[in-house]
Amino acid sequence: MSLIKNLQFKQEEFEYEVPFHITNSVATTSKVITVELSLDNGVVGLGQASRSFRVNGEVFDGLLKYRDEILDKINGLDVRNYRRVFDQIDKFSRTAPSLKAAVQFAVLDGLSQTVNLPVFQLLGGRKDFIETDLTIGIDNLETTVIRAKEAFDKGFTTLKLKVGEDLNHDIDRVLAVSEATKGAGYIVDANLGYTAKEAIQFADQMYKNGVNIRIFEQPVDVYDFDGMRLVRNNCHYPVGADETCKTKYDAMRLVREDCVDYINIKLMKSGLSDALAIVEIAQTANKKLMIGCMGEGGIGIGQSVHFACGTGAFTYHDLDSCLLLKKPKPFRFRTEGNKLYPTF
Ligand code: MN
Repeated sequence: MSLIKNLQFKQEEFEYEVPFHITNSVATTSKVITVELSLDNGVVGLGQASRSFRVNGEVFDGLLKYRDEILDKINGLDVRNYRRVFDQIDKFSRTAPSLKAAVQFAVLDGLSQTVNLPVFQLLGGRKDFIETDLTIGIDNLETTVIRAKEAFDKGFTTLKLKVGEDLNHDIDRVLAVSEATKGAGYIVDANLGYTAKEAIQFADQMYKNGVNIRIFEQPVDVYDFDGMRLVRNNCHYPVGADETCKTKYDAMRLVREDCVDYINIKLMKSGLSDALAIVEIAQTANKKLMIGCMGEGGIGIGQSVHFACGTGAFTYHDLDSCLLLKKPKPFRFRTEGNKLYPTF
């Protein structure tokens, strides 16, 4: 048998190597909840939640209170029927999406150990490894260039650059980075920071200077579908939605509005069940996909490595929080430069 019999939450806090600055937010630490799902066969499945107030409206202490309620819904279910367990945890999509991700992954991790097959193969086994980008937060021009150059020299060929607080400063910084890291490609993420007109102005300047932008991520507000479409139709780069796309219903809306080229899936926004649905929706609608992260430690990033390799659905991978935080050890994956390999 492989019946769920207990669920425990453990708290952990990691410090960022350097404060992580994005539009209207600076983080110095990341607090995570590691969930341990015990089965009656002695197996303990692990998962991890990195909550986000900014994106999900989640408060750390609030999440801790869900333990009893979640266990109550899944106690006694067999992880071999993991979709039945997922269905129960879907009830937390709106209130605790990061916990939903952690518990759903722990279910697969428990099944994986029970049947002796890695999670990425339970999910399809499409890729053996993926390559991640590295994110450079908002900073002054000199520091931005130094960090970008360091990352590029280490072998990160895609750099993710945070913009969105100051248009002219952003233009100067990204042009300087592009000059200093010739050959690299960039994912530029404004985290809702621009108006549509500012975003178009930014993209114009980039294009005139030949900057190789692979995705222009979330240029405008979460609910500004028209603005997103305006940017998409008036810039030379693919436009992507991140904060706008949490559930499968958001993905449907983005497809219907036809306002983006890319969707950024994060397990912390969607859990496994909605992430799987978004993959299918996007692929069917000819939208491209990237996968991102919040402030996950080693266990949390491992979840996304398995998801990304299993589904093989992503053109770009932004799974670097582990590299930006002090101490977290990779769990169920190993790194080799910018390559991430799922392990058992
Ligand atoms: Mn983003």
